Amino acid sequence: MTTVGFIGLGIMGSPMAAHLVNAGHEVVGFDVVPESLTKLAEAGGKPAASVAEAVAGADVVITMLPNHPHVESVVFGDDGVLQNAKEGTLLIDMSTIRPESSLAIAEAAKAKGIRVLDAPVSGGEAGAKNAALSIMVGGDAADFEAAKPILDVLGKTVVHVGPHSAGQVVKAANQLVVGGTYALVAEAIVLLEASGVDAKTGLDVLAGGLAASRILDLKRDSMVARQFQPGFRIDLHHKDMGIALAAARQADVSLPVTGLIAQLVAAARAMGHGSLDHSALLKVTEQLSGRG
Ligand code: NAD
Repeated sequence: MTTVGFIGLGIMGSPMAAHLVNAGHEVVGFDVVPESLTKLAEAGGKPAASVAEAVAGADVVITMLPNHPHVESVVFGDDGVLQNAKEGTLLIDMSTIRPESSLAIAEAAKAKGIRVLDAPVSGGEAGAKNAALSIMVGGDAADFEAAKPILDVLGKTVVHVGPHSAGQVVKAANQLVVGGTYALVAEAIVLLEASGVDAKTGLDVLAGGLAASRILDLKRDSMVARQFQPGFRIDLHHKDMGIALAAARQADVSLPVTGLIAQLVAAARAMGHGSLDHSALLKVTEQLSGRG
């Protein structure tokens, strides 16, 4: 049994923490939203009153927070992980953040004798609930081996992809593929409907051919029905497209389609859809054709 300090019990963190409890680990969790702590207690975890309390007795600390400012304040703050976790603690940041933040955290933690992995995930809310996430891990191989039994509780595909921050680069690549797929499924729906073809029937055929994808499998019905409850918020995907474009600049490469998708996601946000699921990209595609 491992004692896990779990910070960030939102859409993803809440079911992930529950899986760790069910696997027999002691989970001490903290979130700024009190209802998340109640949910953790109902799942058999121990709510903490602060980050410091959650991490003080932990062997492993997991962070699952929105973006790099949240992760940095939880790691570097006076109340935070570096000030309050014991030496040798393994900090696994599973949030999606910019690679340079992951590097800075790993460097600062090393000076404190705290080991760090960046381990962002893919698979969405369904993947978190079903313990079926894909987890892309950056950091030292020995730390990956130490973290593997914990990560195996949360995911089905758990891969060490390289040194510190490599996990975040793989996640950026993941997000541009996901964004692009949503954009094209949205265009398919608009084309089918505008041509008088039943979109559900059309997409059912696509899902059985070369155009098949997890997104078509999981989301085609809710998109056709215009159900956009998150899931994964447009605001978070907007953050991720910014990370992808910054990573492209850093690597000196040109990703023109990624640039276009980033603008479509930005449009969705500017239209006021930031708190809807990213499948609401369909609303932008509809507006471009004067529909919706
Ligand atoms: P969320 O907003 O539902 O959850 C984040 C949680 O962090 C919230 O409960 C919030 O209250 C808490 N929080 C914020 N600041 C805090 C602080 N200082 N201390 C303690 N708690 C704090 O977001 P989510 O959808 O669970 O996503 C979390 C991360 O996972 C993001 O980086 C996101 O990009 C990534 N991700 C999400 C999905 C998805 O489908 N939702 C899929 C893959 C990756």
